[in-house]
Amino acid sequence: MSTSSVTNAPSGDSPSVVIFSGGMDSYTLLHSLLQQVAETAESQAGGASQRNLVHALSFDYGQRHKKELVYAAEVCQALGIPHRIIDITAVNSLLAGSSLTDAIDVPEGHYESESMKSTVVPNRNMILLSLAIGYAVSIKAEAVYFGAHGGDHAIYPDCRPEFLDRMNAVSMVANYEPVRVEAPFVDVDKIGILARGLAMGLDYSKTWTCYNGREKACGKCGSCVERLEAFAENGVVDPLPYEPGIERPDIPPDAGTDKEAST
Ligand SMILES: [Zn+2]
Repeated sequence: MSTSSVTNAPSGDSPSVVIFSGGMDSYTLLHSLLQQVAETAESQAGGASQRNLVHALSFDYGQRHKKELVYAAEVCQALGIPHRIIDITAVNSLLAGSSLTDAIDVPEGHYESESMKSTVVPNRNMILLSLAIGYAVSIKAEAVYFGAHGGDHAIYPDCRPEFLDRMNAVSMVANYEPVRVEAPFVDVDKIGILARGLAMGLDYSKTWTCYNGREKACGKCGSCVERLEAFAENGVVDPLPYEPGIERPDIPPDAGTDKEAST
């Protein structure tokens, strides 16, 4: 089995939509999907160009900074795939209270802490998935791929399997054309996702995850802490530059030996 396998592989003749934030998870997902499409195309004589079979979709929901969207655009341009960035900032006045969009300070520390609940944007994933499904129907795509992952479960209700299963069920009946919602990383944590990407030889300096949009990553927000931990657990140094004085976690002696990539 390929290390990059997604739950239900693309059929090879209908396009797919990938929700691509510019962060590590969706970057890994995008490349996994492109690899799957390429493998399918290889096995089908005269298959359609893989470049037109994966459509990336990014959302400007009024993030505190646009840096991840800039990274997302650069990645898609380099890959030569269609990419849309959709401005949904107008809905922000309805979605109060998130430190990702409002003037509230971004909390420092680990995701598991209670303070990280302030990074939850109410109903965000249902809104993003709804738009992506509508886009999929519009371009006759068969599926929407979404990088929600296991590590998000504890604080984000709309990253849980029960939510994604139901979104898939709804998406299959909400239009004349059924669209699958695929979240292949739903049972994989950040460490496992990174292991898959590293096994594919992906360059993570092309991703931005820090909640702060300064020149270098802060190393202190929940997103940075989790990212640094994932790299250490994989026995690899994160290629992204960090602000001075950031202590990177020690690489455990057994790092990278028993991760997803080895299965
Ligand atoms: Zn950060």
